[in-house]
Amino acid sequence: MASSSISTRLTGCLIGLSTLPAGVCRELPLSETRCLGLGGEESLTYTLRRTSRRRSVGIFVEPDGRLSILAPTAAPTERVEQILRRRLNWIRRQQREVEALPPPPLTREWVAGETHRYLGRQYRLKLVRAPERSVKLLGGYFVVSVSDKKDRDMVRTLVESWYREHAKTLLNHRVERMIASTSWLDIRSPPLQIRTLRQCWGSTTKTGRISFNIDLIKLPLSCIDYVVAHELVHLLIPNHSPAFWRMLDRVMPDWRRWRNSLRRAEM
Ligand SMILES: [Zn+2]
Repeated sequence: MASSSISTRLTGCLIGLSTLPAGVCRELPLSETRCLGLGGEESLTYTLRRTSRRRSVGIFVEPDGRLSILAPTAAPTERVEQILRRRLNWIRRQQREVEALPPPPLTREWVAGETHRYLGRQYRLKLVRAPERSVKLLGGYFVVSVSDKKDRDMVRTLVESWYREHAKTLLNHRVERMIASTSWLDIRSPPLQIRTLRQCWGSTTKTGRISFNIDLIKLPLSCIDYVVAHELVHLLIPNHSPAFWRMLDRVMPDWRRWRNSLRRAEM
């Protein structure tokens, strides 16, 4: 995807504040949408994503005009916003330019050769004409059998239901496995939901229902286990107090490593 970008070097070392809506686990954000007031009626809405792989702030005007910011993990939010104010004219000009262009193609085309992820690995889409519809993982391929290879909607429906089915089975299995290996926690199997979550990888309600982001199935298994462990500990401790992290240490001693991988994950 073509993005316009500029980078600005940053110094300083502070963790930026998160402003996720209430109820969303602040420790497992995909990204956060923020609004920068510019005085009067004017404001700038942007999506902020942090990654330890960046050493500078990247400003991207997406093909649909939305503003995406990639910032180093340690960059204070105020510093990011200072940069946005300084580059405001450039951003507005880029946004006007993309608005004048025809609409961009869909991110996913659902055509042969396209790459899709499963458990941290990439698989290419292979379309086979067959009377029976099916999706199979064979070698490095997602082999999708359809009656009409040009029927992209059908290819998409088949692959997405394959993901949903596998996410449900896998997450149920990982939760049960972790509960069995941490019997000292005395947790009962919680009701699970696999959903499209826009704000986070997982969340736990006060009543003990856990929701997992369906896109977890695209990440390496250890990242999935970190989210599972995190949410299971939330069944006992609903906040991120020191007691929460101490318990997580006991459940998954190397969780920091997987949290870092999760933060770097790009979907
Ligand atoms: Zn949490």
